[in-house]
Amino acid sequence: MAATIIRRNTNFWFDDGNIVLNAQGTLFRVHRGIIGRHAQVFKDMTSIPQPQTGQEPSVEGCPLVPLDDDPEDWEHLLNVIYDCNTSSFSKDTWNLPVLTSVLRLGRKYAFDHLYGEALKRVKLGVPSTLETWDEMLDNLYNAKADTPSKDDAIDLLNVLLEFDVGSCLPVGYAICLTFLTVEEVFRGTPRQDGSIARLSAASIETLIVGREKIFESKHFKAFPDVLIPGEDCSFPAGCRRRSDCSPYPKAHSALEPWEDIEWYCDQCKKRLIDHSRLHRQAIWSCLPFYFGSEQSNDAMDR
Ligand SMILES: [Zn+2]
Repeated sequence: MAATIIRRNTNFWFDDGNIVLNAQGTLFRVHRGIIGRHAQVFKDMTSIPQPQTGQEPSVEGCPLVPLDDDPEDWEHLLNVIYDCNTSSFSKDTWNLPVLTSVLRLGRKYAFDHLYGEALKRVKLGVPSTLETWDEMLDNLYNAKADTPSKDDAIDLLNVLLEFDVGSCLPVGYAICLTFLTVEEVFRGTPRQDGSIARLSAASIETLIVGREKIFESKHFKAFPDVLIPGEDCSFPAGCRRRSDCSPYPKAHSALEPWEDIEWYCDQCKKRLIDHSRLHRQAIWSCLPFYFGSEQSNDAMDR
């Protein structure tokens, strides 16, 4: 600790603060009553471990609380406590780093309400139906707000794993499968701050095995089983020619809407859309089997 550089966090240094948190050398002078309102442990200073020096450490008369947490996590959490309406922060725009910090510290120090809200917000960002999945992709393709970037996709999956949000995991894997190239799956992808977001070896294995399971599934194999031109086709020569350029997606994009079908006649277009919806829905329903250890005859029958 002797070599630790001590610095004050200027955003959270209140002159009337009555407690100083020392997160790995970054000091936050805040209010015990306000922090304690969110986590009981900070109401009762005696429950926070103090060094056995015989003299209580203090800064400008405030008790100093040594914490081994990442200071950025504390800055994020304090930002939520002091600057956000915590009852509605679940409606805030996608901000995974803040949510991750709140979850990490919330679990460690029992910031129970904030932890619950953050978990709720993480789950809200994970599509729960094929319709909301399509909305997410539509937002992404049209560069609308609130859509995860490539590094978000990796960070999101890591958060789902770290905080055991089991019900969302298969979709977390599907997001990585859809958003990332194989190279990015293995090597990670840079965040805005220059650090690299990486998947664990176990996640990479689950992702690659899941991709193979999708590729081998009867639902994926059924993609081309649609009669084009159909019996009611109004332009058979044109639709036949177009179907030579397969509109069917690859395994990594099995859940993406089919592209380039607007050039077919209305009847064939409807046929393709209905067929695509049926089998994409089946693949969606089988995600827990593709990206989990469970087996499903329905998912894998060939
Ligand atoms: Zn047609």
